[in-house]
Amino acid sequence: MSLIFEKSVDGRRGVTFSALDVPKYTLPPDAEYLRQSPAVLPEVSELDLVRHYDGLSSKAYGVDSGFYPLGSCTMKYNPKLCEDTAALDGFCQIHPLQGGLSAQGCLEAAYLLTEYLGRITGMDCGTLQPAAGAHGEFTSLLMIKAYFKSIGQNRTKIIVPDSAHGTNPASAAMAGFEVVNIPSDCDGFVDIDALDAAMDGGVAAFMLTNPNTLGLFEKNISKIAGIVHGRGGILYYDGANLNAVMGISRPGDLGFDIMHINLHKTFATPHGGGGPGAGPVLCKEFLGGFLPRPTVVKDKNGRYSLKDGVRGGKSIGKTRAFFGNFLVCIKALTYITALGAEGITDAARKAVLNANYMRALTSEFLPVGSGACMHEFVASCEELKRDSGVSALDVAKALIDCKMHPPTIYFPLIVHEAMMFEPTETESKQTIDAAVAALKQIIETAKTNPESIKSAPVSTPVGRPDEVKAARKPVLRF
Ligand SMILES: *Cc1c(COP(=O)(O)O)cnc(C)c1O
Repeated sequence: MSLIFEKSVDGRRGVTFSALDVPKYTLPPDAEYLRQSPAVLPEVSELDLVRHYDGLSSKAYGVDSGFYPLGSCTMKYNPKLCEDTAALDGFCQIHPLQGGLSAQGCLEAAYLLTEYLGRITGMDCGTLQPAAGAHGEFTSLLMIKAYFKSIGQNRTKIIVPDSAHGTNPASAAMAGFEVVNIPSDCDGFVDIDALDAAMDGGVAAFMLTNPNTLGLFEKNISKIAGIVHGRGGILYYDGANLNAVMGISRPGDLGFDIMHINLHKTFATPHGGGGPGAGPVLCKEFLGGFLPRPTVVKDKNGRYSLKDGVRGGKSIGKTRAFFGNFLVCIKALTYITALGAEGITDAARKAVLNANYMRALTSEFLPVGSGACMHEFVASCEELKRDSGVSALDVAKALIDCKMHPPTIYFPLIVHEAMMFEPTETESKQTIDAAVAALKQIIETAKTNPESIKSAPVSTPVGRPDEVKAARKPVLRF
């Protein structure tokens, strides 16, 4: 497919401007703000433009196109209702510097979402500022740092399990902490002895993902909380994926002190292609004073306003311009209010049911670990690769030819040739059955004709791009 610039024809236009209704003014040729060379813009007709972008969009694959079981990413369907509310004038035609009195509805929406997220997680207060999960982790870690500073303790280390998402150690390092990695036990859970040994007086926090990246509900949380709190540390919950637990178990009740949530995973706001997302941080009261400012407060007359210093006023300052990705928050609020408490719980149960259904079918031809899973499961192509030379990457590429998005591969790192499937609650039995049938067919073909799998995909405009080169040496022509 050619670039829009390659379709450009001198003088061709896609817009007609209406007649000038103000006096014409010609800038003096030496005006400093006058561009000296003409702007490089494609010159195309309206139809050229429509065909170009419509053509591109039909080559892209999204949740609206088909099955998208990208583990750890929760690519669930994003109801169009959420887009409708986020597009309401009252939400999208406001100015971020507009006074609070004329933006009561927006402040109420932010207040309500923070409140609902607090109820879902069992936390006391929060901020909507962070723009993504990693940003929420970073914000939380700065708060944890400020907290220990305020009580005069010098704690410089953060413990992270080896199954953690890569953003956990990265955020801890960015916030100026030393990262201490601890191994998982043979079932993929936190190794309690390793935690016990690492948890000394220099550790500020332990970061735990639950369900963990193997899709398993951590079974020793009370014990873990006892060890971490017993040594004066903070227990952090990576709540990027609440899909299996929302409405069922609450991190705040389990002993966690602070956490982030990915609205762009669990709460049905679109993601992919880099955002925008939202990674709100929720915490217990004792950490509330360190939250980024401002926060929305409600007075006794029911009026909302933005307050800089609340709950003791030791805020870490701002971590994002204005109030975060506000319209993403509106989509999440719509999703939560549309589902209600019962709907949220029902979605979590169905997410777990779908993942276990798909896991059981897959276990007939690929190893999937032991025990029931939560919202996702991890299969391994290690044996397949040893016997046929076909790797998890090859299988993933072949799935593209079956008109589905591949699962996450090579994550978590603790499973060799990993394929991590997360069907989500929005998929039907028929879709899951068809996906498993396609997967099974690929595994069978791999054993008899491995070369055909290694040359997949054949149905896409580009077969197998050099991913390393594309990332390291991008060719950006325009
Ligand atoms: C996705 C994810 C993150 C990071 O979230 P981003 O919005 O991509 O920064 C962190 N932890 C876990 C467990 C995740 O799945």
